[in-house]
Amino acid sequence: MYLVDLEDYNRRNSEREAMVKEQLIFRGIWNEAVQNSMLAVPRHLFVPEALREYAYCDGPLSIGEGQTISQPYIVAYMIEALNPSKNDIVLEIGTGSGYAAAVLSRLVAMVYTIERLPSHAKRAETLLKKLNYKNIEVIVGDGTRGLPDKAPFDGILVSAGAPMIPNSLLAQLKTEGRLIIPQGTKNAQELQLISKDAHGEIRKRSLGAVHFVPLIGEQGWEG
Ligand code: SAH
Repeated sequence: MYLVDLEDYNRRNSEREAMVKEQLIFRGIWNEAVQNSMLAVPRHLFVPEALREYAYCDGPLSIGEGQTISQPYIVAYMIEALNPSKNDIVLEIGTGSGYAAAVLSRLVAMVYTIERLPSHAKRAETLLKKLNYKNIEVIVGDGTRGLPDKAPFDGILVSAGAPMIPNSLLAQLKTEGRLIIPQGTKNAQELQLISKDAHGEIRKRSLGAVHFVPLIGEQGWEG
């Protein structure tokens, strides 16, 4: 039993190393803290058991109820663009499997992550607790409203595609804070980096084409 577990552990480790090298570093993810976090988080535990063999493949995977865990490269790309630092308080919208929250939590002080589907929120919360992540809080609700009680945030990461930039999220961003959000139609979005400078002025920069499941809520798509 012990040996089987050890073999599995070693195999996952080498799959993860290959993922970081071939999918992330070769494509320009140069932030070493982000690389190390992606090396450390056991992605295979965040996907449904039947898909575990594909956990380190170069694509998104279904996690049930029409939702997906994003492609590893996209998770790394968004988190690198968020430019996290260790004292940051970050809000994630769209917990899904909890994977991105886990990667993020190793780089910042605290992650609040909101999920609208109670079943996903529950599963993610249970797994994150089991893996001993102490600086992640999972909240069930509509993330398009942000999380006023804990605002303002150094960074906000939206893991679902929005028709527009929710006002509440802009309002809950600190000065010099960053918001990463896929914005566009239900089928195609552009990843936007929105930053608030020291004078409170908002800037927007496109980081390229992406495809996410829809952000559903008061300031998102209708469910
Ligand atoms: N970051 C996730 C993947 C997110 S998939 C991971 O690492 O696995 C997008 C998730 O956003 C889905 O689970 C979906 O239910 C959720 N979602 C969609 N609209 C939302 C909203 N308004 N508030 C919170 N979660 C939302």
